[in-house]
Amino acid sequence: MVTPLLRNLEAALLNLDADQLRRRRRTVDTPCGPSAQVDDRPMLAFCSNDYLGLASHPALVEALQEGASRYGVGSGASHLISGHGRAHAQLEERLAEFEAPHLEDARALYFCTGYMANLAVLTALAPAGADLFCEALNHASLIDGTRLARGNVHVYPHCDLSALETMLKDSSAATKLVVTDSVFSMDGVIAPLPQLLALCERHGAWLVVDDAHGFGVLGEHGRGALEHFGLRSPQLVYIGTLGKAAGVGGAFVAAHATVIEWLVQRGRTYIYTTAAPPALAHALLTSVDLIAGPEGAARRARLAELNAHFRDALHLKRWKRMASETPIQPILIGESGPVLEASAALERERLWVPAIRPPTVPKGTARLRVTFSGSHEIDDARQLADALNHIEGTLHG
Ligand SMILES: *Cc1c(COP(=O)(O)O)cnc(C)c1O
Repeated sequence: MVTPLLRNLEAALLNLDADQLRRRRRTVDTPCGPSAQVDDRPMLAFCSNDYLGLASHPALVEALQEGASRYGVGSGASHLISGHGRAHAQLEERLAEFEAPHLEDARALYFCTGYMANLAVLTALAPAGADLFCEALNHASLIDGTRLARGNVHVYPHCDLSALETMLKDSSAATKLVVTDSVFSMDGVIAPLPQLLALCERHGAWLVVDDAHGFGVLGEHGRGALEHFGLRSPQLVYIGTLGKAAGVGGAFVAAHATVIEWLVQRGRTYIYTTAAPPALAHALLTSVDLIAGPEGAARRARLAELNAHFRDALHLKRWKRMASETPIQPILIGESGPVLEASAALERERLWVPAIRPPTVPKGTARLRVTFSGSHEIDDARQLADALNHIEGTLHG
């Protein structure tokens, strides 16, 4: 029976179709990697955030199996009841040690997802009366965190340090938080963290850095954005996700031990949820070793090579490769229709590159989001560039 409520939703879905904004999922039969079997067709994939190509790494598969043999599958309860296992504790120690060069009295807390880590940080650190200063291009999970936090939210324009400084000067709140992505996920730009941290130190504000796309990728040892810039401060609150470059799942917050203890007491998405399966934490110990070791370094070097070859082989006339030194290499096209056509044309050549449309990016800036992984071959980047050069010439718009 079609009730009025269902009819409303159906009309809203038809509106998405009319605006070319309906999304659909692909079903993948293969492990995450460059060669994918997608809806029963083989494709060369440039879509994942598995930047180091660890998601199907044999050492991680083995570590996960070992973790399951040792600890079983479910954790059975939340961390504060009985779900906090030895593997979780070991992972937190390892991550704290890994980020310790950049934080004072570092401690880390493992979360089920980055989304939940962001909600916990913002709600726990920004009570009523606090001021939150949020970068305009922040990830949806940070935006939702600011909506849930009781503090007052102020949005500053993208990377606009002087606008932020004016806002900070005007604030008389006892608690101030500046909140930013480190690497903007849809354009690959790196936030000016040294300048942001200087502003925060001058104005007594926390700097909350969501390094979802930097952890494992940036910095000589893969410690992420703080290592990339050589930053260290007791006012930093660092969030790294573990389902992207780390290849597994979950996330962590690293900060001064007092901040972490407060999150254990007041982070609602930490407290009121079942702890992640301990086997994941066990596998992540191997993941951190891979990131920090020679294999991680080699994969980061490969990413730089892929970028260089892609840039050199690309000769676009109307479309624009967005300047990015990260494995996120978007091609700006403009309207949703042409982006979908470009993505479909690539797909006919068995190249899988997702079309990114509003509301994920601002209207008029729809783009192809190319991402490389440490397990792509140099030839893969060349093949994609050649196809883009050709397809741009055959499409209008
Ligand atoms: C992916 C992402 C998250 C969410 O992390 P999950 O672990 O996938 O929930 C948070 N912030 C940014 C910038 C992201 O790209």
